[in-house]
Amino acid sequence: MLRLALIGNPNSGKTTLFNLLTGSRARVGNFPGVTVEKTSRALRGRPDVELTDLPGVYSLSPYTAEELVTRDFLMDERPDAVINIIDCTAAERGLYLTLQLLSLGLPTVVAFNMADELRAGGGRIDTGVFSKALGVRCIAVSALQRTGIRALTDAAVRAAREGSASALFPYTGACAFAVRELRGAVASISEAAGVPSLFAARKLLEGDAPLETRLHLTAAQRALLERRRADVAQAVGCDCESAMIDNVYRFITTLCQTALQRAASPAVKLSLRADRLLTGRWTGLPIFAAVMALVFYLTFGPLGRGLSELAGRGVDWLAQLLETLLCDINVNSVLRALVIDGLVRGVGSVVSFLPTIAILFTLLSMLEDSGYMARAAFITDRALSRIGLSGSSFAPLLLGFGCTVPAVMAARTVPDARSRRLTVLLLPFVSCSAKLPVLALFAAAFFRRPALALFFLYTASIAVGILAALVLKKTLFRAAASPFVMELPPYRLPALRTTVQYIRQRIGDFVRKAFSVILFASLVVWFLQTFDFRLRLVASPADSMLADIGGALSVLFYPLGWRDWRLTAALITGLTAKEAVLSTLAVLTGAETGVAVSALFPSVPAAAAFCVFVLLYPPCAAAMAAVRRETSGRFALGLFAFQTAVAYLCAMLVFRVGLWLS
Ligand code: GDP
Repeated sequence: MLRLALIGNPNSGKTTLFNLLTGSRARVGNFPGVTVEKTSRALRGRPDVELTDLPGVYSLSPYTAEELVTRDFLMDERPDAVINIIDCTAAERGLYLTLQLLSLGLPTVVAFNMADELRAGGGRIDTGVFSKALGVRCIAVSALQRTGIRALTDAAVRAAREGSASALFPYTGACAFAVRELRGAVASISEAAGVPSLFAARKLLEGDAPLETRLHLTAAQRALLERRRADVAQAVGCDCESAMIDNVYRFITTLCQTALQRAASPAVKLSLRADRLLTGRWTGLPIFAAVMALVFYLTFGPLGRGLSELAGRGVDWLAQLLETLLCDINVNSVLRALVIDGLVRGVGSVVSFLPTIAILFTLLSMLEDSGYMARAAFITDRALSRIGLSGSSFAPLLLGFGCTVPAVMAARTVPDARSRRLTVLLLPFVSCSAKLPVLALFAAAFFRRPALALFFLYTASIAVGILAALVLKKTLFRAAASPFVMELPPYRLPALRTTVQYIRQRIGDFVRKAFSVILFASLVVWFLQTFDFRLRLVASPADSMLADIGGALSVLFYPLGWRDWRLTAALITGLTAKEAVLSTLAVLTGAETGVAVSALFPSVPAAAAFCVFVLLYPPCAAAMAAVRRETSGRFALGLFAFQTAVAYLCAMLVFRVGLWLS
């Protein structure tokens, strides 16, 4: 089996190429920092070749989690060949990584991606010149338009079989002298430690502390290193690390001048003008708020609601049809109730929100693919820094609107540990899509303008999160967040394929969950409400074991205004998956309408308090497991307790204020 690795800068089109080469469906986004883990898959049509997608990085320094994963993989696992993808509209930055890669001595092919964009802007690339200068095959490709892909895989497989690497030595002057001498001095220990000597020499001169530790330099070698660093600094007139970087960039600039032509396209000017408006000090935030309000309006306004009602009617129709059918064939009443109340009502209550979810994610995915969300990260950076975070937390927080599980994992891209933990702790305040059906039902049942009510609920949840962050910043999470540096990706027309694929994945997840966890939860709820503790069929659910359990625990919620055991039961099942709150209520009331649910509450303030409690109480089991995996068991327990306390206090506050107002 041949092992290939795919490596490139964030946003160079790596995921698009990986999906194309392997036929997988990883998430593509016009947003740096979406892939954190490495994934391996067989090449499409070549089961004997495996491709590993590594996290996007700008260099092989040991500073971020992505860099560490990538560098350790390349040094320790040494793939047979590397496909290095470069965005040829920003080739210099991509080549900086390429030159580090080449010093690792691995067989490599370079894919200059986005050749379509370069050509459309009137530019041209001479891959022949690049191939000759770098000493490896360079190919122009477009992952989006699927050109040059066959040539790329053929070249990569050939490079892996031949096993020959580039002998490029791009340094000049004092840097070249220092690299050569150090390379000779550390060659034996670095090769023994599995680190190619050219890479070792270069990185040591750049002050790579973890590598120094890994190599166990002798005192003499350390002294030589310090001498050479001082020599370079003196010769160039700046510190050694900057001198080395500058030296490499000189090589790259000269090369790009001869082999790459970029016409100053009007698109660049337009993009700069758009950025001035969209990221402007006074215009950025209001535009962002307006865009989000529009997204909400389209999702929860007449369009989304209409479609969801239609789906709801479909579920009713199916329930009636099945009821008649089961009556006709004389199925006994318990089994009939199991199918209608347990299966159709439970799962149907959740599935009827599919259109709303589809609209929300189509819009968010298009906004992200267009490059706007990266601007949003930039404009929210200042606001986030006030609560102890930075723009680097924006991507995980945004993912949180979808599902908390990948959002917790994406928090790995936050560079410092303190901000990372704070991001994870605040994620439950971003309402995930599973809470949406529950909140939407309540909004429709209790408010005249449901879209506005939902917008308010989402914003209120974020506001509570901000308050919590401010308190935590002053107490448990002191110290400043590290500065946020992010490159703004170019604006692009959202690719239809990316959007469709993303939506398909989201809907797939949603439906899968509806027919597994939710189905199971609905069946358990149906069982618990149909029998008592002696497993006797009960005449009314009020005598069932679920009523006993829910009734006992309901005491806890008296201060929040509701007493009905069915609400308590729904909250408990909601800990397995948030949609289960709704499916449980549907099973227990025998309908998925707001009217049936509103009958459970003694007053509107109590219903509002319940809504707030659902909005803020701890995330589902899968999310808690992710938190535990990414942090620690103690941290996850703390998060659970914290969320419960915040939800309880806020719900009580809403109930009291509501009573006082009414
Ligand atoms: P990654 O961050 O490196 O994994 O990059 P993605 O695969 O997520 O792609 C980043 C953005 O570039 C997305 O908006 C893609 O649709 C777009 N993209 C990827 N490849 C190409 C290409 O060959 N041409 C053009 N025009 N856009 C591309």
